[in-house]
Amino acid sequence: MRADPVRPEVGFIGLGKMGGAIAARLVSQGIPLHVYDTRSAAVEKLRAHGAQACRDAAEVASRCETVFISLPAPEIVHEVAVDTASAARGKVRVVIDVSTTGPRTSAQISTELLERQVDLIDAPVSGGIAGANKGTLAVMVAGRAEVVRRCRALLDVVGKVFVVGERPGLGQTMKLCNNLLSATALAISSEAMVLGVKAGLDPKMMLDVINTGSGRNSATQDKFPRSVLPRTFDFGFGTGLMYKDVRLCMEEAERLGVQMWVGPAVRQMWLQACMELGPESDFTAIVKCVERLAQVEVSAAS
Ligand code: NAD
Repeated sequence: MRADPVRPEVGFIGLGKMGGAIAARLVSQGIPLHVYDTRSAAVEKLRAHGAQACRDAAEVASRCETVFISLPAPEIVHEVAVDTASAARGKVRVVIDVSTTGPRTSAQISTELLERQVDLIDAPVSGGIAGANKGTLAVMVAGRAEVVRRCRALLDVVGKVFVVGERPGLGQTMKLCNNLLSATALAISSEAMVLGVKAGLDPKMMLDVINTGSGRNSATQDKFPRSVLPRTFDFGFGTGLMYKDVRLCMEEAERLGVQMWVGPAVRQMWLQACMELGPESDFTAIVKCVERLAQVEVSAAS
């Protein structure tokens, strides 16, 4: 009789909108997952999917060689990654960070983990909660080739893997370039849509025209029809996280000596949205900042 192949236990820390969806996808594909989040409700949700609950990050580290991390802020990712790699009785060999932290934080974490004989795979993702549920995210991977090869089957479950280099931080640079475009598209589309509605155009018709014409982008094709026109504002990404990504991108542009004109204006608009709507608001609500001043609403009912 043939024995079942040994299935390595995998950890997951940070079960928010994105982390929770990726973790559920891993469990649904038969990966034995050990999970932790500071919010017990988030852990419970994953337990209902079939994951094993852990009391803290150290318990995850004591059970798993490979640990995913999906956390909201670079400083939190840094702290949790280093604590996980340093845990007493820990057996972690690889940390796969799917958060957006920026290249400098990622490089710093990698250095500190290597001192503890732990590899970092820098693997930020794009494609929203819908992409996480379906396993179709763009996964921007940077890490030692041999380690990436060992984790490849796991990464393939998360989405379409793009190995962008070996140096941790390169995945983050790729992600920041992507999100600068995504943030700009949503901000400028909000302005264009409010202008059209104020002039008397029907917003649904506007989207049909734009998406057939040359103005189409990820906001007009997906975010406006799904979350703005029905006024649900439930796309699943926080305004504070979008501001964080544009801010990190501008810091990187300055560090590399890349002059930008549009980027700083986009950052300013996202900062305004954060202050006006709160960092926890859904990022599609940025349109409300433009609507408030123009005194119109971009709604399917308008
Ligand atoms: P979120 O705020 O929904 O989730 C963050 C989770 O981390 C929460 O459940 C929180 O309780 C948990 N947490 C915070 N501190 C913790 C700690 N010390 N230990 C354990 N758990 C802790 O955020 P999100 O939208 O899931 O985003 C997570 C990361 O993924 C961010 O870096 C974000 O930029 C990135 N991201 C998100 C999306 C998206 O569509 N939501 C897309 C791409 C990338």
